[in-house]
Amino acid sequence: MECEKLLLKIRKESVELMLHRYLNLRSNLSEKEQNYYLSLEKGYQGELMFDALSEPLSANWLIINDLMLEFNHTVFQIDTLLISSEKIFMLEIKNYEGDDFVEADKWYTLSKTEIRNPFHQLERCESLLRRLLQELGITFPIETCLIFVNPEFYLYQAPLNHPIIFPPQLNRFITHLSKNKARFKDKHLKLAEQLVSMHVEKSPYLRLPDYRYDQLEKGINCVSCHSFNVELKSNVLVCKECGYREGITSTVLRGVEEFTFLFPDRRVATNEMLEWFKIIESRNTMRRLLQQNFKQIGHGKYSHYVKL
Ligand SMILES: [Zn+2]
Repeated sequence: MECEKLLLKIRKESVELMLHRYLNLRSNLSEKEQNYYLSLEKGYQGELMFDALSEPLSANWLIINDLMLEFNHTVFQIDTLLISSEKIFMLEIKNYEGDDFVEADKWYTLSKTEIRNPFHQLERCESLLRRLLQELGITFPIETCLIFVNPEFYLYQAPLNHPIIFPPQLNRFITHLSKNKARFKDKHLKLAEQLVSMHVEKSPYLRLPDYRYDQLEKGINCVSCHSFNVELKSNVLVCKECGYREGITSTVLRGVEEFTFLFPDRRVATNEMLEWFKIIESRNTMRRLLQQNFKQIGHGKYSHYVKL
């Protein structure tokens, strides 16, 4: 089997994160929603940080990112799963900042607020994965590891008998894993593919804020600084805040994608898009841009557009 590098599933923003990102720009999220959004954004940035560091591992590990599986009506999520011919490595990545401490199996911030012990989460996922593999008739050693990527984090009284990797240990951890000579074989690739095929696209536990079309700010924002203070200058969207320039085709694709993500039941039609984009004033231009970039369904007044 000639598979030098195998990244079976790339990480991308979750539906939950994307939705919060859009709503954060177009509506007033409550303080609670805003905090939740920031924690999602931070978690995702931490995972990306780890992906960048762990790049060398793709030479001898099968890597599956962001895998959501279901066992016994319970959905569980794995940040990173590494597979070699010897074992499965389940990694939970945390982008914590500040000082925490552990006492009697409980996890606290330094101000003594108890927070969810990430070990319990990891143990729960491990047990679910183990049972799922058993059901598939696969016995395979599973190892777990809790990884802290942010150098601004410190854990007092960290238990020695728990698998934790702190920022100063990360490079050594990656180097150690990249020396793994137990290369995966065909059957491991099959297992990895099977797990990816079982991925649950939408978590049933999504915490999605309520929103309505008429509550959201319309217009298109700058792709770089997210400001709505933009203008159209001969087929280029120019940001008045940061000066970023984007070709109109890319702007239209992006705006329609956001619209259909937020309102999957609404039709993409010329009038609706004039209202959504705000910045394109001419009906003819809007229609032409939609015709060029999407597939037209129907004609005249009731025509609308879908992805090519
Ligand atoms: Zn900008």
